[in-house]
Formats: sequence, C-alpha cells, structure tokens
Amino acid sequence: MNENNVILTGDRPTGSLHLGHYVGSLKKRVELQETGKYKQFVMIADIQALTDNADNPKKIRENIMEIMLDYLAIGLDPNKTTFLIQSQIPALYELPMFYSNLVTVARLQRNPTVKQEIKLRNFEKSLPVGFMNYPISQAADITAFGAKYVPVGIDQLPMIEQTREIVNSFNRVYKTDLLISPEAILPDDEICYRFVGTDGNTKMSKSLGNCIYLKDSSEIVKNKIMGMFTDPKHLKVEDPGDTQNNPVFIYLEAFVTDEHFKKYLPEYKNLNELKAHYERGGLGDMKVKKFLNEVVQEFLAPIRERREKYEKAKPELFAVLKKGTEYSIEYTNKILKEVKNTIGINYFEDMKFQQFFH
Ligand code: ATP
Ligand code: MG
Repeated sequence: MNENNVILTGDRPTGSLHLGHYVGSLKKRVELQETGKYKQFVMIADIQALTDNADNPKKIRENIMEIMLDYLAIGLDPNKTTFLIQSQIPALYELPMFYSNLVTVARLQRNPTVKQEIKLRNFEKSLPVGFMNYPISQAADITAFGAKYVPVGIDQLPMIEQTREIVNSFNRVYKTDLLISPEAILPDDEICYRFVGTDGNTKMSKSLGNCIYLKDSSEIVKNKIMGMFTDPKHLKVEDPGDTQNNPVFIYLEAFVTDEHFKKYLPEYKNLNELKAHYERGGLGDMKVKKFLNEVVQEFLAPIRERREKYEKAKPELFAVLKKGTEYSIEYTNKILKEVKNTIGINYFEDMKFQQFFH
C-alpha cells in the first residue's frame, strides 16, 4: 500500500478551468504523468464545491463534464491518469469523521486560506460547518489515496500543512506509520504560484471573474487581453513603465519563448529586451498586448482543437470517469480498512472483539 509514488490533485467543479489552473497545477500534472514514474489520481472535488454551493448542485453537475473536457484538452491521458468524482467514494466521507477528532476548532480557524475564502464569500456571519471542515476533508482525500505528492498552487499550502498535522496526530495517537505525510509540488516558476488575474489585483479565480478560460474562443481571449490592466502610471507611450506588477508582462513571463519573438516581434530578441524598452519608456501597451495575444492564442490553439475532438466523444468520457471512480472506490477502501483496523473499530472481523461476546 505504501507505494510512495502516488499523486492526488483535483479541482472544484464550479466552472471551467483557466490559465491560473494551468500554470499552477495542470501543467505539472501532465509533466508528472509523462514521466511514467507515478500513479496519478485526478479528482473532481464536488463535495468541496458543495461546501459553498449547497443551494446550487445543478451548477456542479454541469461543470463535471466541462472539467473533464479541460483535463483531456490539456493532455491528461485516461490511459495514464485515473479520474474520479469525489462524492462517489465512501472512504472520503468516512475518514473525515475520524480525523475531525484530531483537529481543534482553533486550528481550523487559523488557516489563512480558509480565512480569506470566508471573507470572499461573506461567510463571516453564518459559516457553514461543511465549509469550515473542508481542510479535514482534503486531508481525507490525500491520505485515502496514500498520496505522497500534491501538485498545487500556493493557496493550497495551508491545506497540505493541515494534512501533515493530521497524519502526524493519527500516527502518534494510534501508534502506527500507516498514513503518509504528503508534500506539495509547486510550479517551477514562482510567478505561477499564485497566477494573477486579468485585473492585476489578485489571483486568477473563478469566483473573481478575472479569468482567461482554457475553452475561451480566440475572439474572447483577444478581448480579454486587450482589456487587461497594465501599469496605471504608464499613460503615454513615452512614459517609463513597470513590468514587475504588470499582468501583461507576468503572462508573457509564463508563456513566451524566444521563438515567439522571432515569429511575431523580431525587433526584440527576448523578454528581457522587451521589458527593458518598456521600463525606459517608448513602448506602448497596445503593442505588448497584441504580442501577448499571439503568444496566448498559440498556446491555446492545440488545447481548443483537442477539446473539440473530445466534445464529440462524450460517452467515452462518461465511461472513463465511471471506471476511474470505481477503481478509486476499491483503492481507497483498502486504506480505509487499515485505518479502521488501526483505530480498533473493525469489530466483526476482529476475533479479540468477538471474545467479549463468548
Ligand atoms: P474557486 O474560486 O471556485 O475556488 P479556483 O479558481 O480557486 O476556484 P480551485 O478549484 O479552487 O480553483 O483550484 C484548483 C487548483 O488550481 C488548486 O491546486 C489551486 O491551487 C490551483 N489554482 C487555482 N487558481 C490558481 C491561480 N490563480 N494560480 C495558481 N494556481 C491556481
Ligand atoms: Mg479555490
């Protein structure tokens, strides 16, 4: 069971996936998948989505297919990665019940990501218990698969930390080494840890309406890029501009290659030259945005193409998801059983327990 090469990640089916998901986690998943060294599970986190959408299960149902299409479009491969739906896996409900006894309310309240999300959702006055508990549920997701690695954006680090604490408590209290302590895998490039939205304010997030979606048409992408925030002090072309906190340059940093310069903007060799010109003044936003548009369109084109192909094969996707979920039920049940054995609540299989009734 302790394979130590298991990867688990997932996404909330609250909307389609966007560039933030791509650079923050999806890209790594594809890379790790292609090494052939890991056993990778990708989970559609519908239970977690319900924690702040309890009144809108329809939205969640509809987005499951959308997310599957996004997954396959970016190159996750059902022959190499197992896909599953969280709510169909009994172990993921049972484990949080046991783990919640090992976590204090104060500890949950200290979680900075949860704090921020509570604020964002106006949950300050009436906080659903389910929402407060979702870090425990996430610990169950990770440990139920015995996952060692979790490729995520930086907002998820407090969740991984919480999981590690639960693992330590469980192993200490029940004198075992059954549960594996997971590690986050962050993107290679720091600017992708928390990829900024088109508004330049904060992270790109479905809830904030500042996203470029992987499935956006080329027209929509162009409009979004042309409408992007840049440096507010860069009013005239001659003005010196800031490239550090400028999302247009941050997006270039994430996606541009020197080849793009050769093809679309040959007067510059690379991003450093372009940045230097912008910083000293004399380079207009329009020109940079047009270039960024070419770069992003080139990145999205094959993704769109694959998406179209899979849109014609939806029954196959249904089968993939069903099969992956069934496999995951079996897989996690094995760990669940060991957890119950370890706690000592395996009454009907335990001879020592049966002796009490003799
Ligand atoms: P929601 O607003 O519904 O929470 P979201 O856009 O934050 O949606 P999630 O489903 O919560 O998306 O996140 C899924 C994964 O994608 C997580 O690993 C998260 O860290 C990563 N991720 C999401 N947005 C970004 C971003 N802007 N930059 C880097 N990683 C991100
Ligand atoms: Mg989120």
